[in-house]
Amino acid sequence: MTQTALDIAADVRARRRSAREVVDEHLATIEAREGEVHAFNAVLAEEARRTADAVDGSIAAGDDPGPLAGVPVVVKDNMCTRGIPTTCGSRILEGWRPPYDATVVERLREAGAVLVGKTNLDEFAMGSSTENSAFGPTGNPHDLARVPGGSSGGSAAAVAAGFAPLALGSDTGGSIRQPAALCGVVGVKPTYGLVSRYGLVAFASSLDQIGPFASTVADAAAALDAIAVPDPRDSTCIPDARPAYVEALQTGADGLRVGIVEELTEADGVEPEVRNAVERAASVLEAGGAHVDRVSVPSAVYGISAYYLIAPAEASSNLARYDGVRYGLRVEGEDVGTMNARTRAAGFGDEVKRRIMLGTYALSAGYFDAYYGKAQKVRTLIIRDFARAYETHNVLLAPTTPTVAFKLGEKTSDPLAMYLSDVCTVPSSLAGHPAMSVPFGTGADNLPVGVQVLAPPLAEVIMLRTAQALEESVR
Ligand code: GLN
Repeated sequence: MTQTALDIAADVRARRRSAREVVDEHLATIEAREGEVHAFNAVLAEEARRTADAVDGSIAAGDDPGPLAGVPVVVKDNMCTRGIPTTCGSRILEGWRPPYDATVVERLREAGAVLVGKTNLDEFAMGSSTENSAFGPTGNPHDLARVPGGSSGGSAAAVAAGFAPLALGSDTGGSIRQPAALCGVVGVKPTYGLVSRYGLVAFASSLDQIGPFASTVADAAAALDAIAVPDPRDSTCIPDARPAYVEALQTGADGLRVGIVEELTEADGVEPEVRNAVERAASVLEAGGAHVDRVSVPSAVYGISAYYLIAPAEASSNLARYDGVRYGLRVEGEDVGTMNARTRAAGFGDEVKRRIMLGTYALSAGYFDAYYGKAQKVRTLIIRDFARAYETHNVLLAPTTPTVAFKLGEKTSDPLAMYLSDVCTVPSSLAGHPAMSVPFGTGADNLPVGVQVLAPPLAEVIMLRTAQALEESVR
């Protein structure tokens, strides 16, 4: 059994173990298995040992290094780390070292955590399998011939393999929840604006959100406590104080009104074992005193169509900054235009190019209303339908992903099939609502299945409580 982040922090703070010992242990696990898993774009062994020694030093001096004292953490390689390459899984950022830390990285350090590495991802977080990384795919620690999900596949795999008890990922349409489900770990996408995105490389700015991976719900809550703080450097970051998530963790489902989202649970391609897991989760909550019924979110079925217009549209604008002038790679040409074109041709992978073309088309004069404008209207309908569901329910349940982890290479030649693995996660992304995946048994080939708990804006406390009730039932 891997040690939880909260156990490690308690041990380190009480001087039962040193942060150095903890980090060395995790580095040894990485050494033993990283070769086959490939969760990392960079392992920061030296820097991790130095940080751990500093944590031990501050404890020896009588100081408290913080609630995550000595906890090894890893972050997705689209979050800026000062002086440490941040690749976004792309060649276009070759050689670039950010001059600053993302707020979340800063916050983890302030909480006493020890940064151990930068994890692999689909290029610019576009993908559902981590196969779109320019540095090769990550394997699923449960079966190395399968994908860990994506785009935060490296972070999910790192937690599942015991490389670190905590990881950060980013979720634009499912990139925390989907890999969490496929790797059998907890993954939380907070409310849009709960966590600062200062220093997160932008994909689709109206959707992107940072959140934690952990092996327990309580650990995920502890990570949220560290990173979910107001930040004036991100104007979309909600300025109000957040609850203390670990403290607010309650057990039991008594009195909760829970709805199973029909459109997501009955969606095409949802495997029977996955549907079954949602039904079993509902029964567990019902047995715990919750009131459970079915609820309809009719417009959720248009989620994928709307998402794959809005996200690429925003991406095409965000990625215009990679021009061979400001960051990373430059391929010379006789004039600026040729240099731009050659740099982008060489620096971006196929999926990124596809998204830029889709997005540019959706935004082009003459097509804007029919595509982008229409998708925005659908987005409004989704927000309204969820609002209606939450008038009568505290939380909703759905599958996280239609299937268990698929095989490496299975969907790489069929982008549409790949996009459909987000069918259950994109609706709450479009709404800006929190949602999380909690491991709940196994499905085909004995692979992990995740159940998704969805909640209204800023209702993370009740979402975590529901997930914890499910976690306790399978322990
Ligand atoms: N798989 C989705 C996509 O490719 C979601 C990615 C994400 O959440 N970053 O866009």
